[in-house]
Amino acid sequence: METIGVVGAGISGVHLALRLQQLGVSTTLYAERTPDEHRAARPVNLVARYGQTGVRERALHVDHFPDRPVPRVRLTVGGEDGLRFCGELGQPWRFVDFRIYIPQLVETYQRRGGQLVIEPVDAARAHELAARHELMVISSGSRSMAELFPRDPTRSPFTEPRRRLLAMMVTGVSYLEPFSNDIHFLPGVGELFFPPFYTFGGQLNALLMEAIPGGPFEPLTRMSYPDDPTLFKRTLLDVFATHVPSVRERIDDSEFDLARPIDYLQGAITPVARRGWARLGDSRCAVAIGDAWVLNDPLTGQGANLGSRCAFLLADAIATAPKFDEQFCRTVEASMWESAAQPATNMTNAFLTPWPPHVGSLLAAAAEQQRVANAFVDLFDDPPAALSTLSSPTATEAFLSRLSESKPRLAPA
Ligand SMILES: Cc1cc2nc3c(=O)[nH]c(=O)nc-3n(C[C@H](O)[C@H](O)[C@H](O)COP(=O)(O)OP(=O)(O)OC[C@H]3O[C@@H](n4cnc5c(N)ncnc54)[C@H](O)[C@@H]3O)c2cc1C
Repeated sequence: METIGVVGAGISGVHLALRLQQLGVSTTLYAERTPDEHRAARPVNLVARYGQTGVRERALHVDHFPDRPVPRVRLTVGGEDGLRFCGELGQPWRFVDFRIYIPQLVETYQRRGGQLVIEPVDAARAHELAARHELMVISSGSRSMAELFPRDPTRSPFTEPRRRLLAMMVTGVSYLEPFSNDIHFLPGVGELFFPPFYTFGGQLNALLMEAIPGGPFEPLTRMSYPDDPTLFKRTLLDVFATHVPSVRERIDDSEFDLARPIDYLQGAITPVARRGWARLGDSRCAVAIGDAWVLNDPLTGQGANLGSRCAFLLADAIATAPKFDEQFCRTVEASMWESAAQPATNMTNAFLTPWPPHVGSLLAAAAEQQRVANAFVDLFDDPPAALSTLSSPTATEAFLSRLSESKPRLAPA
């Protein structure tokens, strides 16, 4: 019998398959499209991989991308007359187009002897495949198999999107100096992210707009680019001129455009946490990971990093489990929720609601002290620390006083 059936070759499924391969567990990876079909597709995300994901990639020996790592984050809060700081990251963030990243990892899995089956798998097919595998893992993303994994209302505070999204890979925007991810939080309006981004044309810039519904960014998340590219670009440039004039100044109008006509996405995400396991007939079970289990708004960049983390936690549990029954599923779900998914989800949901005053005080301290700025930007890669730091005025004060005793990292030039 093949041991584990993994459905869905996104970061969650492919990190799981590669990790199980390393641990000597036999797997079959079911993907709905070939690596080449994935390369030719439209983008569905714009992912920052944080330092802890980088550690797992090095463990998997798949850290072979030619992107320029991003060592710092400049954060502007409340418009360009508001707060601003530039935090040095403990470990750089990496931005590689997932249409390059995922196919390369899938091919690595195959080269190492992994079995890839190109077949879309729905819930009915998962039941059939369960006869061939001791455990099914469903990692086929947010569109998949909601009927197997019902929404958990106790973990899902929202019933509609808190943001609408526009993401683009663009030419004609010069890099921020020093080389940084440029993030703008505009309370009441939304958030703008301008990361350097490695895609098919090489190293470019990307844009992620998170628009608060009803606010001034929202029309751009609905406007059709193909219908009138010139109007779309002009509207976007006007928004930049009004809300982020320093970004507008970095744009060469004659060069500014989508890197390729397909290189954009628009949409919205309703955050949801589902029950993480299901019975497949009398004797088999399925576990869900990644967006198939917990779907967060991309605002804090948790989804792919969380999918990778859960892939490793689940692989370790699978490699040491005597059997894959309901008890195994319940235990592994509880452990992944507590150590990884709950902090990432609660942190993200907290960023989707107005901040309490002590978060404002923390940001003000970051704007004044380099060591606070550095520690703040590292919180994105450490949701448990972020949650505990932001949870109350006392926790924020404790964080600041711990930092005042620590040694500072160097400020950027
Ligand atoms: C605009 C945007 C920006 C983002 N930025 C970040 C970020 O900075 N950092 C971060 O960590 N996360 C970010 N995310 C979230 C991140 O993209 C997702 O959380 C992550 O990619 C989820 O990975 P996954 O493997 O669970 O699912 P997916 O990436 O959705 O992969 C699922 C795979 O399963 C396949 N599949 C689907 N249905 C079937 C089927 N029936 N049978 C077989 N295969 C199937 C799909 O083709 C896909 O390849 C962002 C998301 C968006 C939309």
